[in-house]
Amino acid sequence: MIKTERVLHLKSCRGRKVRVVREHYLRERVPCYSGACQADCANDGKVLPGDLTHYVVPDVGVVVDYLEILEFRELHGIVFTQTACQAVQHSKGRRQYNRLRNLLKDPRHDCTLFANEYQEYSYCPREKGESQEEWQTRCVYSAAEWYFNHLAGAMPVVMVTENQEAVAQYSSLRSGVYVISFQEYLQTFWPELQAAHELYSSISQALQAKEGEGNEKEYAEHLPAEVLEAGIKSGRYIQGTLNVSKHRAQTEALIMTEGFSNKSTDMGWCVMVHGDKSRNRAMHGDVVVVELLPKSEWRWKVTALTEGQADEKNGKDGESKPLPTGRVVGILQRNWRDYVVTYPPREGTQSQTRNSQRILAVPWDHRIPKIRISTQQAETLQDHRVVVRIDSWESTSLYPNGHSVRVLGWAGELETEVQTILIENCIHVPPFSDAQLREMPVNSPEKPWKVDPAQVAERRDLRDSHLVFSIDPKGCEDVDDTLSVRSLAGGKLLELGVHIADVTHFVTEGSLTDLEARTRATTYYLADRRYDMLPAVLSADLCSLLGGVDRYAMSVLWELDAHTLAVNKVWFGRTLIRSSYQLHYELAQALLNGEQAEVLELARLGPEEKDAKLAQLTRALETLTHVARHLRAQRDRGGALELEGVEVRAQLDEERNITALVPRQPLEVHETVAECMIYANHWVARKIQETFPYQALLRRHPPPRQEFFSQLVESARAKGFSISTGSNKALADSLDQAVDPQDPLVNRLLRMMTTQAMPQALYFSTGAQPLDQYYHYGLALDRYTHFTSPIRRYADIVVHRLLIAAITVEQAASSGAALASNKDLEEMSQHINNRNMAAKRAQKLSTELFQCLYFKERDPQTDPRCVADAVIYSIRDDGVLVFVPEYGVKGPVYMKNRDGEVVSAGQDGSCQWQSGSVRRYPDHITTTSSCGTSTFRLFDHITVRISVHATHCHADRLHLEVVSNKPYRSAELEQPRSQGRCQLVQEVVRLAEEAYQQAQEKAARRPKLSKEEREFCQSKTPNLYSLLEEVRELALMDLDMTPQVCATTA
Ligand SMILES: [Zn+2]
Repeated sequence: MIKTERVLHLKSCRGRKVRVVREHYLRERVPCYSGACQADCANDGKVLPGDLTHYVVPDVGVVVDYLEILEFRELHGIVFTQTACQAVQHSKGRRQYNRLRNLLKDPRHDCTLFANEYQEYSYCPREKGESQEEWQTRCVYSAAEWYFNHLAGAMPVVMVTENQEAVAQYSSLRSGVYVISFQEYLQTFWPELQAAHELYSSISQALQAKEGEGNEKEYAEHLPAEVLEAGIKSGRYIQGTLNVSKHRAQTEALIMTEGFSNKSTDMGWCVMVHGDKSRNRAMHGDVVVVELLPKSEWRWKVTALTEGQADEKNGKDGESKPLPTGRVVGILQRNWRDYVVTYPPREGTQSQTRNSQRILAVPWDHRIPKIRISTQQAETLQDHRVVVRIDSWESTSLYPNGHSVRVLGWAGELETEVQTILIENCIHVPPFSDAQLREMPVNSPEKPWKVDPAQVAERRDLRDSHLVFSIDPKGCEDVDDTLSVRSLAGGKLLELGVHIADVTHFVTEGSLTDLEARTRATTYYLADRRYDMLPAVLSADLCSLLGGVDRYAMSVLWELDAHTLAVNKVWFGRTLIRSSYQLHYELAQALLNGEQAEVLELARLGPEEKDAKLAQLTRALETLTHVARHLRAQRDRGGALELEGVEVRAQLDEERNITALVPRQPLEVHETVAECMIYANHWVARKIQETFPYQALLRRHPPPRQEFFSQLVESARAKGFSISTGSNKALADSLDQAVDPQDPLVNRLLRMMTTQAMPQALYFSTGAQPLDQYYHYGLALDRYTHFTSPIRRYADIVVHRLLIAAITVEQAASSGAALASNKDLEEMSQHINNRNMAAKRAQKLSTELFQCLYFKERDPQTDPRCVADAVIYSIRDDGVLVFVPEYGVKGPVYMKNRDGEVVSAGQDGSCQWQSGSVRRYPDHITTTSSCGTSTFRLFDHITVRISVHATHCHADRLHLEVVSNKPYRSAELEQPRSQGRCQLVQEVVRLAEEAYQQAQEKAARRPKLSKEEREFCQSKTPNLYSLLEEVRELALMDLDMTPQVCATTA
């Protein structure tokens, strides 16, 4: 090893110059991480394949400016030099550097890091008079040369650079390394990779545009990091995350101060930032530092209605104090992501330079400012949705600068809009790659999958001893849970069993499939399709506990006292099962009710045998129901909440999203299955928490904050009900009492408000929370986790691995598999929580999309389907919020319009706009005009007309207008409910298909779009069953409630 000294002149990302002297050690042996290595390098970990056509070594400039192209998984054999990586760290900051590090770590990307500056022969000290850029290029060239020689000339090596002089200088050296420009490289080696070419030209245009910028200041400069840090410490500045108001994005933003959760209305913890100069280039989600303004400049939060508003949490309205108001003085961390924008029509074009135009593209997300883009396609891509990334936002620029990444398609088309929803929620679900699929077991008619004899020896074999069956919605493909129950010791004992698909047997930790599942974290359900977390061979086949086939399972078996149902002992472990019956809910309920029912599995048997088997099955179902009732009663005593009545509870349990929610026929068997799953989750939580007190993944549901119940309590009072919120038990009891026999919707709306006041249930690592925080408020359990749906939730996969490790520790068979640390597990929990929220948001947005597409096709003035009954659930300054049960729509209804007119109801209830005034009271709102006074009370049923407010650059919104202050009644629509919703989806899908065909015919006239447009398409044909049920279920529930409802009990 050789020791030298190395002087670095660094420029920090904030522009400061730093001189650093470091001891520098040179080694003869630095691993090459190449499969073609002949020199016995210590290449452990990720290795570049030895059978590629070439390796490519990008120069510093390419890595710094074009990293996102190097991120394409199609590119192979990329060698990142230490020189280039350090340059990224210094010139682009931590965020970009982490991105590069993740790329290097990710086995799905074929690239490696070469520590060229530690390699004796590839290291070049900087020469006198040599510029930093020249030196870096020389280092990278020297590294490329080293690779060529180290691999004995067997692997062609290409160096790519954006510096034309370097191309001229180095390509003449004839050392064996080809030196070409990055553009030429892409054209020569990857001519088919259209998306990369487009991205290249988009980035290079953005870089050119940047050069030509003026220097007039539009915003105050951000303060240096040291000043910010000192200011935060001394209390002069406040640090927090910027949250731009959805409804007043131009003017209002709030800072959620550190350590504070998502309750935006707690005034004590919020700082208001008003206007874009005060916001000083900070964007939604950024971690910023603010300075408070003098009290005289503090502002009130606006409480009037805005279009599209229905989902804001509300503590107290009409706040009497202004909010602390401040201005942004610095940004600690940018939270930029990919944004979907719409290219403006021609007049939106800003300026023209050379052959590209600068346009101001409008982001789909209201909270994001317009983004300036230099493009040659401004004309052809008018009215298209395009994915863009932001490059910078200098103080001299009114808007951030960015470049386009990918074209999604015409705004307003179903497919474009669905992709928009995915990207806006950072949901990336490419088709499973061939490499991932190669990890999967084979199961084909020619080569059927068979149970491995070695596994039979290791597992507890329940195939002959246990009657195992599943109960799922009709047509369910992925059965991940089954049940069993049997009598032991001559009837003194009962054995209850829950058997879950053994997904971790097939998904090895760290495998490509595992990485992909971890990234997705959940299966994503949209209104018309789903994106699975695992490949279909597992989710619909080998991990699906289908009837009549041998399957691996993870089982929990409880031995209960048959009389008291107290638990004697619990057994956890890997098993082998064969489910005897694949029942659906209605069938199981029919058997329980003693009704005549046809069980498919018994169809071929003779009458005697059939009767005997049927009796056995019915007995098992009855015992199960008995046990479940007992368990439920136990939890009820503890205060378990039932937030939305039985129909939603079925959905709550384990997110069986497709559960047939038949509103007026709640089936007890739903509850029975749910209760068994909750029990299994609870006992597994206990087991892993006891074995790994600081490294177990659990799920907690914090108690709600009392102030968020104010609206609920006040609304209930308006109907003469008293809601007690002291404990979950008191709340559950008082909600049960708050029933209006005339109007079942009252109770439902009160439960929805309760849900709205609830925090989210969250995954966490036991080491990251004190013991008293483990409690699950909604389920009234001291510990809870997710174990029962490993096919569609990654949390369950983690929990399965923890459970196996716990069993191993218990048996002391080995030291146990390597466990994730508390820190890793907590990071994982946050990732999964984040993905779950994204999944819920995407599901909600896609449902709204379908609703809008449905109503867009109708004339609200003539089509009777556009008129519906609505219930008032909240009173605001200038209108009310209503819920439309038929379509599951929530939204504002204005009582006053911009022209100062108010809604005035006539004798027959029909409403008209008249000039007048509006007055708000706690439980009603009145309008006064020359025609008299009209009153709208909480829980009043009114009639609304639904139309679509098209916005083009953003998602369309439904607009609700009151047509009568009387309930909507129509003979024809006496029983319209579920029918209307089924029609809704069918109709939209049909129209989308027609539109698609028309578009195909017109294809010639359309601009040619890249293949990547369709990159996201997966399970494109929706399973009609799931599609209808999903939307029906969503529509049944309050849309905004969906996330919390699921979170609460599941
Ligand atoms: Zn080597």
